[in-house]
Amino acid sequence: MTNRGFTTGILHSDRQNAIEHGSLHKPIHTSIAYGQPSGQGIADVFQGKQAGFTYSRQVNPTVNALEDKITGMEQGIASICFSTGMAAITATMLSLLKSGDHVVSSTYLFGNTNSFLMTLANFGIEVTFVDATDVNHVREACRPTTRLVFTETIANPCTQVSDLDAIGQLCAEPNVLYVIDNTMTSPYLFHPKTVKAGLVINSLSKYICGHGNALGGSITDCGTFDWTRFDNILPQYRSGDPSRWGLQQIRKKGLRDTGATLAPHVAHTIATGAETLALRMPAACANAAKLAAWFSTHPKVNKVYYPGLAQHPQNARTKQLFRYPGAIMSIELIETIDCLAFLDKLRLAIISTNLGDNRTLALPVAQTIYHEMGPERRAEMGIGDATVRLSVGIEDYSDLEADFQQALDAC
Ligand SMILES: *Cc1c(COP(=O)(O)O)cnc(C)c1O
Repeated sequence: MTNRGFTTGILHSDRQNAIEHGSLHKPIHTSIAYGQPSGQGIADVFQGKQAGFTYSRQVNPTVNALEDKITGMEQGIASICFSTGMAAITATMLSLLKSGDHVVSSTYLFGNTNSFLMTLANFGIEVTFVDATDVNHVREACRPTTRLVFTETIANPCTQVSDLDAIGQLCAEPNVLYVIDNTMTSPYLFHPKTVKAGLVINSLSKYICGHGNALGGSITDCGTFDWTRFDNILPQYRSGDPSRWGLQQIRKKGLRDTGATLAPHVAHTIATGAETLALRMPAACANAAKLAAWFSTHPKVNKVYYPGLAQHPQNARTKQLFRYPGAIMSIELIETIDCLAFLDKLRLAIISTNLGDNRTLALPVAQTIYHEMGPERRAEMGIGDATVRLSVGIEDYSDLEADFQQALDAC
């Protein structure tokens, strides 16, 4: 699959293995449990001596087919799917960290990830938040107990781009696990493996699915990390090919024990959406780039945060790392306009949370997804009360511009 094109790989991935009746899609396997031909057979499958299916909370053929597609998209060695992106993040951290460990995380984070990292502190895992747009802040925060460095690619909502390449080099020698949340870019715009990430997280609910009808998450091992030097791998998972130890532990301690399983019906829905990722993403990014340029000359718009603009602080890095600068942006209107009143004037863009939908969504972030964290943490993240995040969809561009134009005119 790796030597085929991105879309060909996704479309033909299921048929790498024989499918009954010549079916073109991997069927939805609803059975929870799988019979084995012998007593020894079931023992061998349970002990990992033979490949096979046991119980669908930890392994299912339909979900495996989606995992293979994601592995191909990320050019990794293996993946595990979860019921949501948050489940993937939670299960990964809980299964690989223990009390006394230290984590360095970008301060510019998806709100729920921020909330979860705060929870880790209750279990004796310390987290230091840094401005990860500069590797020096990450370096200064690292300690002998630092086990994991976490960042997103393009941050939400103010679109900061972390110093992804330099952080990868920083983590490589001490063998600190480098985890990148690739949700905002998707594997079509960026492969975290190219900056030496050990693990990649994707919320499948966003671009990979695209249609906004299914929740899911995944973790992919890039094959770059030396698990034999990672002390937190438990003795029972230090067997077989060492490149698989990390995911082995995440599948057992993370997926099996938390039970945050992706349902096979949902895996099928996500797999169908993923087929068109490479067609949707350029369309959404092109709309976003045009809108960002248009907003930045509009007299009623004060600020535009979009990494594709020349004035964005990480514009050069964005061009170097990503195929396109993404389809998320935030705007701040001039002070005399109330951002909630502006939203009320929109006729096409939908006032809604979520991102990566084919439809354009607009959200006042301080009042919604970043409300719970409070004004201090919002200020640290650069989020103002008037910040409106736009997740730009694949509508015809002229309709989008006309909608924002009429809404601004009416304010
Ligand atoms: C949405 C999102 C998540 C969480 O994904 P869910 O599938 O909603 O749980 C994690 N990270 C980022 C960057 C996201 O945008």
